[in-house]
Amino acid sequence: MPYRAPVEDYNFLFEHVVSLDSVRGTERFEDATLDVTRAILEEAGKLCNEVVAPLQRSGDLNPAYLENGVVRTSPGFAEGFRKIAEGGWVGMAADPEYGGMGLPMALTAAVGDMMSGACLSLQLAPLMGQGQIEALEHHASDAIKDLYLPKLISGEWTGTMNLTEPQAGSDVGALTSKAEDNGDGTYRISGQKIYITWGDHDLGGNVCHLVLARLPDAPAGTKGISLFLVPKFIPEADGTLGKRNGVNVVSLEHKMGIHGSPTCVLEYADATGWLVGKEQGGMAAMFTMMNNARLGVGGIGIAEGAFQHALAYAQDRKQGKTQDASSKGSILGHADVRRMLTTMKADIFAARAIAASNAVAIDMATATGDKAWKARAALLTPITKAFGTDTGIAVADTGIQVHGGMGFIEETGAAQFARDVRVTAIYEGTNGIQAMDLVARKMMDGGEAATALFDEIEADVDKAKEVFPQMAKDVWEAVESLREATEWLVAQTDMQDRFAGAVPYLRAFARVLGAHLHLKAAMADQGGAREKLARFYIQRMLPEHAALLVHAQAGAKELYALSPDELVA
Ligand SMILES: Cc1cc2nc3c(=O)[nH]c(=O)nc-3n(C[C@H](O)[C@H](O)[C@H](O)COP(=O)(O)OP(=O)(O)OC[C@H]3O[C@@H](n4cnc5c(N)ncnc54)[C@H](O)[C@@H]3O)c2cc1C
Repeated sequence: MPYRAPVEDYNFLFEHVVSLDSVRGTERFEDATLDVTRAILEEAGKLCNEVVAPLQRSGDLNPAYLENGVVRTSPGFAEGFRKIAEGGWVGMAADPEYGGMGLPMALTAAVGDMMSGACLSLQLAPLMGQGQIEALEHHASDAIKDLYLPKLISGEWTGTMNLTEPQAGSDVGALTSKAEDNGDGTYRISGQKIYITWGDHDLGGNVCHLVLARLPDAPAGTKGISLFLVPKFIPEADGTLGKRNGVNVVSLEHKMGIHGSPTCVLEYADATGWLVGKEQGGMAAMFTMMNNARLGVGGIGIAEGAFQHALAYAQDRKQGKTQDASSKGSILGHADVRRMLTTMKADIFAARAIAASNAVAIDMATATGDKAWKARAALLTPITKAFGTDTGIAVADTGIQVHGGMGFIEETGAAQFARDVRVTAIYEGTNGIQAMDLVARKMMDGGEAATALFDEIEADVDKAKEVFPQMAKDVWEAVESLREATEWLVAQTDMQDRFAGAVPYLRAFARVLGAHLHLKAAMADQGGAREKLARFYIQRMLPEHAALLVHAQAGAKELYALSPDELVA
């Protein structure tokens, strides 16, 4: 079944639920008018449907492979990437001074979402580029910016992020890659990095690695880490490719999914690198890239693809009789199949709307520098990442169930969504680590940013009371429960008690945010399909938050009651 990028869903979202008006009202983004936004989404949708989506199966069936030390990409990927680059999609949010379009992150994230639903393996290439561009814009010297940004923005060159080493995964501070000052403005980088997404390819141009490494005598842990730009080919001053640098692909990982995305083990042997940001300021600089990637990891897009696939199958498949004439004898008439498909659709909307409000907060923070917007963006980032990817996994799994036995058979393509999306809960910081970030770092303000958000939601709910009294009451009560749980959380001085409930707390938070955004959609589409979907979500899915909040406030004691030996027994 051909993929249809969710262009209309985004138009509705940006016009009625997570309005872009405030973003357009800033000087920075005043050019992103309603017409521009609509035209961009329309064009991106066409590219996703016609160019990117047809590569989805090709990447799965013909994985990238290593040949004589060079990565060969899946058939059609080079051409697909060229079209993405030529359309200017890599540099959508980038600084116009270097050739970017300077568009809001909200639009970039929307296009990334639509593209990841079309083919996540390929979309990861522009995503890595976008993250690197943003990191360089914020932290690199003018000389680096002048040389690299135009090439990265045009997509002539691509970017990667290199944190992980065999002994340093979630614990980035354990990394041992070394950097030594050459005394001429360059550094010698040595060490091994693993799992590097699009770490090499045959798309042409240069592959630019942002690499975390440690200078001699730097302190242990994350504080002692610096960031370096290490290109595969050392560019001449005019940007032409010069001599080959000391970075090589040792092997490619054999993965459960995203076969079209080359995941490389890279060896750096006295490679020449340039410092980005300050010595020992590497983590702060890399966080710019990581936060960008967290918003665009692709869970929601895959959920969209899996949903469309399952719906098309259900419309055709006939099994047993149902009383529902509108389903024309298909399995769509069965209550349980309806439950699965409506749950998928309701969760996709919730996750997408949360991500969109996160992107708007980022744009407002960028445009205004306002502290409250920065805090909002930071608060929402772990929720967007973890809930979006968990939703992707759950929806892809349900998509298999809708197919019955055919879901387990590779030819239908239902399984690919589940295989491809699984990693999104692992990379860019596992979802467990995201939840810990939410209950620890993002609550260092004593819950101030969360409380401001709860107040805002309640003000919106107030406006819905007359039209939808029951839905408004349910959402209001859920916000109050979340507020109480948040107060409990910030009162815990033993961090283990916070961490023990972090994952259920994050999920409950997302459930409540989703309910608020569904309610807003219902207000804008009274009597329409969006109101019906909101009723489904608020009545059947929102109540999950209550059980999750019990779990969130249970503390750590029981988790450690069972000893490691008793776990084994
Ligand atoms: C396909 C793929 C692509 C990737 N792309 C890149 C890339 O481009 N660049 C890059 O640098 N890396 C990349 N990664 C690496 C990825 O970011 C790491 O796998 C991830 O950060 C987890 O690290 P780990 O695999 O070592 O797991 P571990 O850190 O060993 O984690 C194992 C388990 O322990 C939990 N855990 C670990 N520490 C804690 C803690 N402090 N508190 C609570 N729980 C904890 C984790 O949540 C997880 O459940 C990629 C990985 C994959 C699989």
